[in-house]
Amino acid sequence: MTIAEKNFAAAPGEAPLIDPFGRAVTYIRVSVTDRCDFRCVYCMSEDMNFLPKRDLLSLEELDRLCSTFVGLGTRKIRVTGGEPLVRRGIMTLFRSLSRHLESGALEEVTVTTNGSQLARHAQELFDCGVRRINVSLDTLDADRFRAITRWGDLGKVLEGVDAAQKAGLAIKINAVALKGVNDDEFPRLIEWAHGRGMDLTFIEVMPLGDIEAARVDQYLPLSLVRANLMDRFTLQNIDYQTGGPARYVRVAETGGRLGFITPMTHNFCESCNRVRVTCTGTLFMCLGQEDAADLRAPLRASESDAPLIGAIRDAILRKPKGHDFIIDRGTALPAVGRHMSVTGG
Ligand code: SAM
Ligand code: SF4
Repeated sequence: MTIAEKNFAAAPGEAPLIDPFGRAVTYIRVSVTDRCDFRCVYCMSEDMNFLPKRDLLSLEELDRLCSTFVGLGTRKIRVTGGEPLVRRGIMTLFRSLSRHLESGALEEVTVTTNGSQLARHAQELFDCGVRRINVSLDTLDADRFRAITRWGDLGKVLEGVDAAQKAGLAIKINAVALKGVNDDEFPRLIEWAHGRGMDLTFIEVMPLGDIEAARVDQYLPLSLVRANLMDRFTLQNIDYQTGGPARYVRVAETGGRLGFITPMTHNFCESCNRVRVTCTGTLFMCLGQEDAADLRAPLRASESDAPLIGAIRDAILRKPKGHDFIIDRGTALPAVGRHMSVTGG
């Protein structure tokens, strides 16, 4: 039996997942691998120890896990990593998840990718029902791109963006704001993204995992970025929401949307609707806290989904109110030890 033929959705009538603060959990981000073909300076150190492959959930297990969440009211799944498109056979997962889009149980399956493998996967993603993707791109300068990603090739990513647009995928570009690295390029990024009909979102760097550089040297508050952009552009507040933490404005001069994700300067936890699952089946109820629940053991313990559902429900009851990120000279340690590539961005 292929994974697409199995139906793991929990029985109708399951109560939705509601956390202790009354927030409904309807969105999961699933990291399908901790590996990546880049080594972005804010995300990873150059020498990373990756998980042994035997610790990873198989694609069938990932499908079963996602489908169980769908049965518990998850409406949106974002596939991420590491770099999700480097996981071998990953299209099998997209293909099997598409049955939940067809049935209407899921509203959306999306991907966050560095774009390096996008040219060869874009059409198939579209064929599997994916309609929107996020591509991470911090600069349009090839040398700078190489310096930020250590190993990346800007040309390949731009080919991926072309292929994705040709396939009909809507793209949001995500750029991490890095002090002294790409902060002179923001107007150009805005004009480029909006000129191609893409949204653009700036992200504040978060203190996740040990990297070689000091976070405080990278960190650029978006309140400052926004103030500087207002010298050049007219930023109009708009009421646009994608279910994520970005707050959007319209840039009058380009007509495009610009988002700001500000985990540091503006905490958005009060409206958090999501949890994250790693490629080993560990459920993190908050990106910025250590508490986690192992879902792999209950998943493997039984053919029945009952132990898995019980573990998910117990974990949601422990979802914390929010994160406590700090970046300053006095705080040397990251807020949490794991890298963004483990929990999934
Ligand atoms: N590899 C894919 C990519 O780069 O899009 C998906 C995973 S990556 C961890 C997801 C997002 O997290 C990317 O947009 C990346 O720029 C962002 N990111 C990684 N480390 C970060 C950090 N410490 N602070 C803020 N954003 C970070
Ligand atoms: Fe890889 Fe994405 Fe992390 Fe860059 S941000 S190292 S592309 S996982």
